[in-house]
Amino acid sequence: MDFLRPASWEEALAVKAEHPTAVPIAGGTDVMVEINFDHRRPEYLMDLNRIGELSEWQVGQDSVRLGASVPYSAIMEHLRAELPGLALASHTVASPQIRNRGGVGGNLGTASPAGDAHPALLAAGAEVEAASVRGTRMIPIDAFYTGVKRNALAPDELIRAVHIKKADGPQQYSKVGTRNAMVIAVCAFGLALHPETRTVRTGIGSAAPTPVRAKEAEDFLNAALEEGGFWESGKIITPSVAKQFAQLAAGACNPIDDVRGTAAYRRHAVGIMARRTLGWTWEQYRGAGRTLEGAA
Ligand SMILES: Cc1cc2nc3c(=O)[nH]c(=O)nc-3n(C[C@H](O)[C@H](O)[C@H](O)COP(=O)(O)OP(=O)(O)OC[C@H]3O[C@@H](n4cnc5c(N)ncnc54)[C@H](O)[C@@H]3O)c2cc1C
Repeated sequence: MDFLRPASWEEALAVKAEHPTAVPIAGGTDVMVEINFDHRRPEYLMDLNRIGELSEWQVGQDSVRLGASVPYSAIMEHLRAELPGLALASHTVASPQIRNRGGVGGNLGTASPAGDAHPALLAAGAEVEAASVRGTRMIPIDAFYTGVKRNALAPDELIRAVHIKKADGPQQYSKVGTRNAMVIAVCAFGLALHPETRTVRTGIGSAAPTPVRAKEAEDFLNAALEEGGFWESGKIITPSVAKQFAQLAAGACNPIDDVRGTAAYRRHAVGIMARRTLGWTWEQYRGAGRTLEGAA
């Protein structure tokens, strides 16, 4: 196995163009597990750790440009206000050691349906900045996951950064696992309120072949909130609306039975998490200076 160590982003793109089968390694928390277990024996391993810009982020007017290798611990420490959903999801990843090494670029590279960043990225609304010697393109997060552990990157492309909309309202992340740390999600749910556009976005993890949004549930809730004047009044969401939202979210799942849980359990749990995250975020929204006139 050849170990390639590009010193700059341009060099990394050139190396990937020359060796499209080269496997990039960032934190190595997925790659090294695969190599150690002999699940993968790449001809070329391309270390990205000499490229400092991949571990940097910029906070812009509307969005955060998060370098592909920014570790989860930095997101938790420095970007909690801008990216609360992703910060909460980062908290649930593995252990402090893994959170200091692993990052969102690697989570996207692996594209496991159980990856914790995905529901938060789907709910917040993100775009993946993918680049090659041919140029740069922005891939909407909804189009990024193409199958079980498959993504939309071309063989010569690398992830340079992820652009994530700054939170304009409360966001939550919920994960079911067999314990509180070092656990792969049995299933997970991310929800973001976007008061500026009066919309709600969601993300489901580990309950379908790819991370997915619960689009029907979003459409139903967006219409119910608009028709009922909920955004202006901040009144409590009626239990029947929350229940219908939860049922539609559960319906968006296409889970399997596996060692971590049954398909039926996952569907049920996603419904519960959808209702709870809606309740938590809505309470935060109501508490953030809403006019409570007409609150039920
Ligand atoms: C003990 C343990 C516990 C874990 N627990 C969790 C957990 O709770 N939740 C969770 O989501 N994950 C978990 N993981 C998996 C892993 O930590 C995450 O997926 C992490 O985000 C991977 O990031 P990394 O930088 O280490 O990626 P790497 O291992 O370096 O790379 C992962 C994949 O992404 C590709 N890649 C990396 N950077 C780029 C780039 N810039 N462009 C294109 N492709 C790239 C690599 O080629 C590889 O295919 C766990 C892993 C371990 C070992």
